[in-house]
Amino acid sequence: MLQQSSYRAFTLRDLPAIPQIAALPADQRLQLQAVANVLPFRVNRYVLDHLIDWSRVPDDPIYQLTFPQPEMLDAADLSTMTDLLHRGAPAGEVEAAARAIQHRLNPHPAGQVDLNVPFEGGREVRGVQHKYHETVLFFPAQGQTCHAYCTYCFRWAQFVGLEDLKFAAREADQLVAYLRNHPEVTSVLFTGGDPLVMRTALLRRYIEPILAAKLPQLASIRIGTKALAYWPQRFVDGPDADDLMRLFEEVQAHGLHMALMAHSSHPRELQTEIAQAAFRRVRSTGTVIRCQAPLIRRVNDDSAIWAELWREQVRAGAVPYYMFVERDTGPKEYFKVPLARAHAIFRDAYRQVSGLGRSVRGPSMSATPGKVVLDGVIDVGGRPHFVLKFLQARNPEWVGRLFLAEYDDRAAWLDELRPAGGAAQFFFESEMDEFKRERRRQRLTLTTADATPLRLIRDDAARPGSEQPQ
Ligand SMILES: *Cc1c(COP(=O)(O)O)cnc(C)c1O
Repeated sequence: MLQQSSYRAFTLRDLPAIPQIAALPADQRLQLQAVANVLPFRVNRYVLDHLIDWSRVPDDPIYQLTFPQPEMLDAADLSTMTDLLHRGAPAGEVEAAARAIQHRLNPHPAGQVDLNVPFEGGREVRGVQHKYHETVLFFPAQGQTCHAYCTYCFRWAQFVGLEDLKFAAREADQLVAYLRNHPEVTSVLFTGGDPLVMRTALLRRYIEPILAAKLPQLASIRIGTKALAYWPQRFVDGPDADDLMRLFEEVQAHGLHMALMAHSSHPRELQTEIAQAAFRRVRSTGTVIRCQAPLIRRVNDDSAIWAELWREQVRAGAVPYYMFVERDTGPKEYFKVPLARAHAIFRDAYRQVSGLGRSVRGPSMSATPGKVVLDGVIDVGGRPHFVLKFLQARNPEWVGRLFLAEYDDRAAWLDELRPAGGAAQFFFESEMDEFKRERRRQRLTLTTADATPLRLIRDDAARPGSEQPQ
């Protein structure tokens, strides 16, 4: 029996109200509190009661996925924060210390704002990122939070109130105008945060104008979401869920492919009764669920977990899509898996699934020049090398291009690799530099008002203890 259940969030302020946390020793609680003042924290009743295995805490993967851990900060920062909290320092002082630490955690990876937000007529197109020819990312203003936060989120900065990093759009009109001007775009990807924190009526205000515009080149609308894992009730319970299913059907009635890009980190997320019901219901509308997640130490850095994850996805009728490399931001040191090991985990898991699971690609880095997959290790001139390939690229001509880097068992990101054969640069680097210079020049020509960072209309996320619409 599926029960009607209402959403209840737990944020920083509610930490002591979580019975399992209240039961921890005082020093551990203080540390948790200290880290949660720096990194985003939000869970909900479903995650607490159905996904976390409390008998395995702190090692439990879903606990690691959702609860800040002391080792996510370096020792000095952790003691700064615990000292402040211990002596009951004023909120302003705690916040200032947290800000200083946040700014040192590379809150702004891969030039997301500077390089990906397009200009049109001397203005920034708010809420839009356009990095790859075919696909536009759209960040609806009210979809910039989540049903629970992942500790490793690469967009973590927007959940701790570093507002200049938020992207948002007030209206879909600008998006539609942009799409009319860019017939190369065949796919619009709603992202966030999690756009499915929005009520369906609100989501409609963004999607319906796109449908009404009857853009001849548009082939798909996608929504990036973790709701199938963190709040599957979103798809199953109540009239708003019913309306969401109707909306998915309407998209397809307009001749477009409707896809959910599901953030799917661990097999346990797919194993609850309500999650299975959610997958069935979404699929019954014809919507295709494609699954992707980063490879994260302590959460899913094991080939057996990925093999099981991909099998569960296939069993649920979903499509394994990408395995990502954790980005170089936030508590990266805590979670990072070196590329060589990431590839070994991918390969060993890939070998264990049928061809239906091998639609997955990875391990892939969403780096500044594009999505780069590490395809394997090969011997050249008696020495091992990484074989890399662009799956997506700023310059479409780079897509599919293979290139070699010196093997390095510690490197964990593209910028830590060296080109093979002693070359000074990878083939794409001088063009990337030129692109960055050109962007800087264009930025200088923007109207000042438009170049200033956008503030969100509403941010429940930054206000501890707030509820949100499901
Ligand atoms: C991954 C990504 C996309 C979508 O890429 P697909 O390969 O089409 O799924 C679009 N824009 C950005 C910036 C991305 O990182």
